[in-house]
Amino acid sequence: MAKRKVFKIGDEVITPGTRRTIDLPVSMLSDHTPMTMSAHVIHGRRDGPVVFVSAGVHGDEIIGIEIVRRLLGVPQLDSLRGTLIAVPIVNAFGFLNNSRYLPDRRDLNRTFPGTQGGSLASRLARLFMTEIVARSDLGIDLHSAAVHRTNLPQIRISPGNRETLRLARVFGAPVILRSELREGSLRGAASDAGVDVLLFEAGEALRFDEMAVRAGVSGILRVLKDQSMLPAKGIARPKRKPLLSKSSRWLRAPQGGLLRSYKSEGDTVTEGETLAIVADPFGEVEIPVVSDADGLIVGRAVFPNVNEGDALFHVAQVADPDEAGETLEHLSSQLEADPIFDEDEII
Ligand SMILES: [Zn+2]
Repeated sequence: MAKRKVFKIGDEVITPGTRRTIDLPVSMLSDHTPMTMSAHVIHGRRDGPVVFVSAGVHGDEIIGIEIVRRLLGVPQLDSLRGTLIAVPIVNAFGFLNNSRYLPDRRDLNRTFPGTQGGSLASRLARLFMTEIVARSDLGIDLHSAAVHRTNLPQIRISPGNRETLRLARVFGAPVILRSELREGSLRGAASDAGVDVLLFEAGEALRFDEMAVRAGVSGILRVLKDQSMLPAKGIARPKRKPLLSKSSRWLRAPQGGLLRSYKSEGDTVTEGETLAIVADPFGEVEIPVVSDADGLIVGRAVFPNVNEGDALFHVAQVADPDEAGETLEHLSSQLEADPIFDEDEII
């Protein structure tokens, strides 16, 4: 068998059977500190696909960063076929400022594919496209809900792409949501470049969430196993089929005030059910937030101070809400018992 070629990225050359963290220069900060986008590359001894895993495109969504850290410690990666490129913090500017954005308030995930002479966000997007996406066959991009919101672990895929639907089922997060590609998103730009990206959304910005982390790590390992990059041993299939939702919508605050929620992510709801109350500070006006359909809560606001129109509950339509509850229980108990997490602390 011919020896596998070296993997070139940035100015670095990685030989087969080795792994290394490399720093891709982004820019110089105003105080002369160099800023980089750093990637850990595991270049397997044997041929196989190139897969990237990215996190921190939104700098405050730190669960994905922890998922990458845990993933890189998994012993099975020692026998990887193909190449894994892990970028735990794409947007280091946002991460250092506990912010979703770049310093000029641009959202990196609205500026892909980027340009060389554009804004800082646009240049960073372009660097990611040329150094990471262009070298990959498949990507997994890790996100959380925006600040003051939380998400039930879920994979978002574009309607009409059968392969990403198949991979989302392999991943085994409790919910698969179909959502249109957004203009300027990494997922959209990668798709235009012929690279499928699974978008994982779990937990809350600026917080850790153990089950969200576990759902991410186990899902990525299942996808790598599916791509024949890892041996099957120790990587269990999801015990239940993830719930597929073709539509979802946000219930919004009927007035400004203080939010008291009776329901949480992962709860099923029925049409007409009161999910929360929004009250003014005097308790004189209390307005219930009522579900207008049966469904499953896949995201919700966690910050009680709300303005009229704020998004409060993200309710996904699922075929059978009762069965959905059971599926969620099975999948979360599987994550709790998964021996791959034996060494990890429960946060
Ligand atoms: Zn995000």
